[in-house]
Amino acid sequence: MSITYTVLTLFPGIIDAYFSASVMARAVERGIVRYRAVNIRDFAPDKHRTCDDAPYGGGPGMLMLPEPLGRALEAAGVPGRPGKAGSSTGELAQAPEGADPPAGGRRVIYLSPSGRPFNQEMAEDLAACGELVLLCGRYEGIDQRIIDLYIDQEVSLGDYVLSSGEAAALVIVDATYRLVDQVITRESLEEESFSRGLLEYPQYTRPEVYAMIKVPEILLSGHHENIRRWRLRKQIEKTLAVRPDLIRRGEETGLFDAETGKIIEELRQEHE
Ligand code: SAH
Repeated sequence: MSITYTVLTLFPGIIDAYFSASVMARAVERGIVRYRAVNIRDFAPDKHRTCDDAPYGGGPGMLMLPEPLGRALEAAGVPGRPGKAGSSTGELAQAPEGADPPAGGRRVIYLSPSGRPFNQEMAEDLAACGELVLLCGRYEGIDQRIIDLYIDQEVSLGDYVLSSGEAAALVIVDATYRLVDQVITRESLEEESFSRGLLEYPQYTRPEVYAMIKVPEILLSGHHENIRRWRLRKQIEKTLAVRPDLIRRGEETGLFDAETGKIIEELRQEHE
């Protein structure tokens, strides 16, 4: 299994730097990850290579011009959807739930605060695509017609405004490539935060005593079953304290096994 990232950006250097370091660099070397950074400015039609202009109707700031974006997308092999231009809301372009392209297909994403919020579930869905095309906005964003014509999905990192889509695109890249087979071991993925609807348990490494704080005794006991139970309890304590919404969701969707459900109840009672 492998994944291809095509990142459309005005600043390809930001993207190159990320793909040439650490675990990612090794994944690229091994051919598990392929990537291309497409410089949108190379597709500006005028001699000044202009990529932005003022918005129609007034308002602050500049918008990215549709022409360079459209040409860059076409050059990257993304076909437009003629006839869908003109939707003023972008709803047409937003892939309806359940109507996504088949696994292994290409997904064209615009990073935007107006998109659906990114989470682990979405990361898993996107990691199963053969290619992710990530369009990075700058300034006040991009011309709506590009969204209507080319974008399958608008994705937001959260309820805050970044100044660049590059930072957001790299988060999507980082959260997805590690889910592709062989990049990271199965066990580490199964143990980590969100994997079973809970946050991660606290972890310790050497030395046994640091700043006069000792590693919890149970972790030194070698008793695997006790360690497993202790970790599960810690996960639930932490999740109840900082993300009660995750506990509620897990309960509503029947995600938790009987053991987890029992500990949640115990902790709630202790709290009262
Ligand atoms: N005027 C826009 C914000 C533009 S910010 C608005 O009010 O919605 C410039 C670029 O940063 C955007 O085009 C987008 O690509 C990126 N960006 C900003 N916030 C983001 C977020 N929360 N998630 C994903 N991308 C974001």
